[in-house]
Amino acid sequence: MSFNPADNIQDLQYFGEFGGVNPSISDSSTYTFLSAKTMFDTFEGNADGCYLYSRHSTPSNLYLGKALAAMEGTETANVAASGMGAITPVLLQICGTGDHIVSSRTIYGGTYAFLKNFTPRLGIKTTFVDITKLDVVEAAITKNTKILYCESVSNPLLEVADIKGLSALAKKYNLKLVVDNTFSPLSISPAKLGADVVCHSLTKFINGSSDTVGGVVCGTQDFINELRSVNDGASMLLGSTMDSLRASSILKNLRTLHIRMKQHSFNAAYLADKFQADGLITVYPGLESHPSHQLFKSMMNAEYGFGGMLTIDAGSLEKANELMELMQHKNLGYLAVSLGFYKTLFSAPGSSTSSEIPVEEQKEMGLTDGLIRFSIGLDNDIARTYQIMKACMIEVGVLKK
Ligand SMILES: *Cc1c(COP(=O)(O)O)cnc(C)c1O
Repeated sequence: MSFNPADNIQDLQYFGEFGGVNPSISDSSTYTFLSAKTMFDTFEGNADGCYLYSRHSTPSNLYLGKALAAMEGTETANVAASGMGAITPVLLQICGTGDHIVSSRTIYGGTYAFLKNFTPRLGIKTTFVDITKLDVVEAAITKNTKILYCESVSNPLLEVADIKGLSALAKKYNLKLVVDNTFSPLSISPAKLGADVVCHSLTKFINGSSDTVGGVVCGTQDFINELRSVNDGASMLLGSTMDSLRASSILKNLRTLHIRMKQHSFNAAYLADKFQADGLITVYPGLESHPSHQLFKSMMNAEYGFGGMLTIDAGSLEKANELMELMQHKNLGYLAVSLGFYKTLFSAPGSSTSSEIPVEEQKEMGLTDGLIRFSIGLDNDIARTYQIMKACMIEVGVLKK
């Protein structure tokens, strides 16, 4: 049987302590022990099934982690209070002073800032590369390199990483391949393609209702144990723990992710096709014009589509801003950062989510002033939405009549 992430989530079965169809929410920061000996063993990490203190783990967090591990096909997972709260401990767990990271240069602004500005203070250096060129990636690897870091589909340029190719490099040089899969849940299963660690910001598509931040690290039991170690685990000691109430609400939203992703992908594919036909510079991995269209196709779980993210170039920041304000006025979506909401969200990354990246570097990677990033919503009638969007584009002069 082939791997299907949504079926794996559906196949899990758990009940609440009173037979509720949802697991009960654990509402405690600390846990009692029947014997002092068990408490000691739990501290030593030798008492499976015992809870100690909720920064370490909680039943609710373990349920959510289990479902996300099933989705990614990894042994286990650890949830965190935010995407950054998941990603940064992974990097700090694997790397120490003197170590080196090779990272894609087109990544989430916060991760970029962490690697560019923060980790050098700890003596960890990062080389940023064009992740789509495996020879360039390989040339950047040094004897101190510990991690290859990328996003399956990158923010905001929607570049696609060759995860199998990167995994082969990681194996050759004994590195860990860490992949942020926030933009392509269900569509791409990085661990199945050879990634060692898969991270998500749950804030985006997975939770899907823009009401919380959250994150997860999916990986081997050994690696997750390391992150959670009371002695030297970065997740445990840096303390970005998710609250149980949030874990239970994200778990409930996760169960409709497959339905939502299909609709996000359907709507984004429809708009991308139309925008391109109208003559706009449109980037969407589902378009044959996308440089990595075939690569995405070769990696994807086809039924979930090419995802809900697309970009267009409005020509200038002024035009982009004018268009976004008008689209919001017409209630086509919101001028907001983030992604994965039921409404379409749009922003100009150069002056917002990627503003951590110096303007010179933005130019070099092809991040233009007029770029608008869309997270396409769950619109029931996308053809109707398109007609109104097109009228907006004509009104501000991004499209000719
Ligand atoms: C939002 C985002 C993050 C950070 O997640 P938070 O939940 O905001 O901490 C990391 N990576 C990607 C690709 C994102 O879109």
